[in-house]
Amino acid sequence: MFFLHNNIIHSRVHEELSSLQTRGNNHSEILEASFHEETIRHIAMMEARTDTQVILTKPDGTIYMSSNKVEDEMKKIMKTVPKNIPHTGLILEDDWKNATYIASISPVTVGNKITGYVYMFQTTQKIKDLISGLNQHFLIAGLLSLMFMIIIIVFLTRYVTHPLIEMSEATKRISKGDFSVSLPKPGKDEIGELGESIKVLASDLEILKNERNEFLASISHELRTPLTYIKGYADIARRPETNSKDREKYLGIIFEETGKLSKLVKELFNLAKMDENTFSIEKEEVHLLPYFQGIIEKVSPALKETQMEIVLECPDHLYAKIDPMRFEQVILNLLDNARKYSEPQTKIVVVVNRINGAVHMIVQDEGKGIPAEDLPRIFERFYRVDKSRTRALGGTGLGLSIVKQLVEAHGGTIEVTSSPNVGTTFEIIL
Ligand code: ADP
Repeated sequence: MFFLHNNIIHSRVHEELSSLQTRGNNHSEILEASFHEETIRHIAMMEARTDTQVILTKPDGTIYMSSNKVEDEMKKIMKTVPKNIPHTGLILEDDWKNATYIASISPVTVGNKITGYVYMFQTTQKIKDLISGLNQHFLIAGLLSLMFMIIIIVFLTRYVTHPLIEMSEATKRISKGDFSVSLPKPGKDEIGELGESIKVLASDLEILKNERNEFLASISHELRTPLTYIKGYADIARRPETNSKDREKYLGIIFEETGKLSKLVKELFNLAKMDENTFSIEKEEVHLLPYFQGIIEKVSPALKETQMEIVLECPDHLYAKIDPMRFEQVILNLLDNARKYSEPQTKIVVVVNRINGAVHMIVQDEGKGIPAEDLPRIFERFYRVDKSRTRALGGTGLGLSIVKQLVEAHGGTIEVTSSPNVGTTFEIIL
């Protein structure tokens, strides 16, 4: 604005000066064409009605005529005339700020001889008025922009910068483990969304951290139990006084415990892979009747041992898009649980059908059931209803959480209903 202001003033002053000089030159040209009393009177009359003043002098400086009264200020300027004045004239005074007049001089040359000089004067008041008007406009424009700037700064600070600073501090606190972040009330704009995402992130992180701690505690607990057995029995077995019959028995226990350990590690590894999403599901169209018949055949020998019966109800021509290997793991886990947690001579029913385009798979047993308070937690890792009994049955507490993850990886859901001593029903919907 400062430069714009200066430029406008400079060009306005320049315009005034050159118009004054051009006017003087015009008069001198007219006089060069006819240097008569008549012409001089006409020029004086013309200028008398304007805000400029013309003075015609002889070459020696004596005044011929003047359109108005010659002021002292004008005489002072006329004394400062330089020697060689070009034919196009000169500006004699351009200090519009301090002087009373701006002035120009144009020589009147007739036949190579200077016959006089035309002086033009214009009061600087006109320029000063013009510039003070301009200054007022600039002042208003300046104040307005300042006001807008302040409003914008206040707005930006309040709605953008301030929340961003708070968010950056919140994320720093989150990274240090303080999840109780409080952020400003989110608006519906991008900043609000960012704040909301940070809050969600903080709570997710907190849940994850707690889950990880619980998970690690459970793993170390689960590993410690079989390891204690192994260590204890190995210690007795290696003693020289242990007879070979006992040693064989202890080695048997060690073998059994290592089997449990390797099963546990294998399942943990599977879960870790599922968490990392490095676990790929390769779906294909599977004919369900022969597929389920194959799985049931696999579990039949174990069921025969406890004289349990298994019934499959599955219409032919029913197909589903599943990863046959992974899904077999799901069904085998459910059947294994049904077997483990049921009394001998009971029945397991597997029902597969299609309802409203979705494939429903039901595994139902007549076992001891799950108490209502445990039902919501049985899909959690290491969750077991009856800890000591399940461990004796070879359970790790990981089976159902693997089942759930695999079903979800197939885009399906799994639900459970159970009543103690009546039976349990797992239903997968794909
Ligand atoms: P586990 O390896 O201990 O069987 P799971 O994750 O498969 O672990 O099951 C978790 C718990 O849910 C089991 O310990 C058991 O108490 C209970 N459970 C699972 N399936 C059944 C069932 N069909 N009948 C009764 N209880 C069951």
